[in-house]
Amino acid sequence: MTDTNRPTGLMTTAIHAGDAPDPATNASAPPIHMSSTYVTENLAGFSAHDLTPDSPYVYSRWANPTVTGLEAKIAALQGTEACLATASGMAAASAIFFTFLSAGDHLIISDVSYAGVAELARETLPRMGIEVSAVNMSNPEGVAEALRPNTRLIHTETPVNPICRLTDLAAVSKLARQSGALLSCDATFASPLGLDTVELGVDLTLHSTTKYIGGHGDAVGGAITGSSALVSKLRTEAGIHHGGVLSPFNAWLIARGATTLPLRMQAHQAGALALAQWLEADPRVTKVIYPGLPSHPQAELARRQMANTSGMIAFQVGNAVTGERIAQQMIERLKVIHYAVSLGHHRSLIFWMGTEGLMESSFHLRGSQLEDYRAYAGDGIFRMSVGLENADDLIADLDRALG
Ligand code: PLP
Repeated sequence: MTDTNRPTGLMTTAIHAGDAPDPATNASAPPIHMSSTYVTENLAGFSAHDLTPDSPYVYSRWANPTVTGLEAKIAALQGTEACLATASGMAAASAIFFTFLSAGDHLIISDVSYAGVAELARETLPRMGIEVSAVNMSNPEGVAEALRPNTRLIHTETPVNPICRLTDLAAVSKLARQSGALLSCDATFASPLGLDTVELGVDLTLHSTTKYIGGHGDAVGGAITGSSALVSKLRTEAGIHHGGVLSPFNAWLIARGATTLPLRMQAHQAGALALAQWLEADPRVTKVIYPGLPSHPQAELARRQMANTSGMIAFQVGNAVTGERIAQQMIERLKVIHYAVSLGHHRSLIFWMGTEGLMESSFHLRGSQLEDYRAYAGDGIFRMSVGLENADDLIADLDRALG
């Protein structure tokens, strides 16, 4: 079922892809296969290279039926041939870097990325002999200038965590094609339904399934979708050799969450739009960045590229001092929204990030890159993941906390 290429309506795909009545019992709901090993009837090789798409199950680091079901569901939702589920979103990012980059290769990465990915790229990859250029991916010309003969991978994130800045994927994928590099995109903020990454020319799409795909804040996981050939390489290197595979229990929870993804994404988008409009009209709020608002600096690109603008909003209240004070008020006053990291859950979550702290801890931007960041996001921002609660209750909660 991994090459379904969106054959049916999205809700039907979300519910049925990778899922079928259990052949042993006819159970309608999928069982959890917690077995680490499988009784084999044939003599089998013991190398990762012996695994083929129709190999029987041998050992759960190679493949597990519950995880296979989730992989088929995510591949179908993203419209790709295949998917590898990983132990976390970070395991998915390291799977891409360590499978497709070697010493002497060059990586171009968004200068603003999820902090863990930024740190991995800036601190660990150079230690392995990999050259890294961090560029502002909202400017394709900057990407073109950063290309080198040894550029093997361009890795972007759109909308980017935490400032909701966008990458024009069609433009960057054209550059990747021309230079013979692969393009990977972290689409965690958008979910598989926000971006048609296949149509836009992305080779590998990364999701932290901890977020929208799982959707309920109860399981950590990751996924990479792409062609069968690329995913098979990832499965051999990252899954079987590096070992960062997903547990069947988490796969089951994430697959159960994914069955309602299309409905949830519609509701996240509607809730976020209502909140973003309310925030934009409130005089206490300095700036709101939401791809679904006409005021987003890349609103035209958002309309062209995003089928769903998702539930992620970045907003600024005054300067760093005001922001920190309001963050403290939120911790004390919020009754519905949780002051917590993470995103994409049914519960609304909010977190304040000071520019200085982000720069020191992960991005290390200086000069014109720091100026670009400040011009876009100001001096400290709140990142809000709008959940599925009633918008009026979320607005009342924020109103109390901002007061
Ligand atoms: N990518 C993005 C955009 C994220 O926001 C996160 C986590 O917040 C990750 C990757 C890492 O995912 P995980 O926490 O599942 O390892």
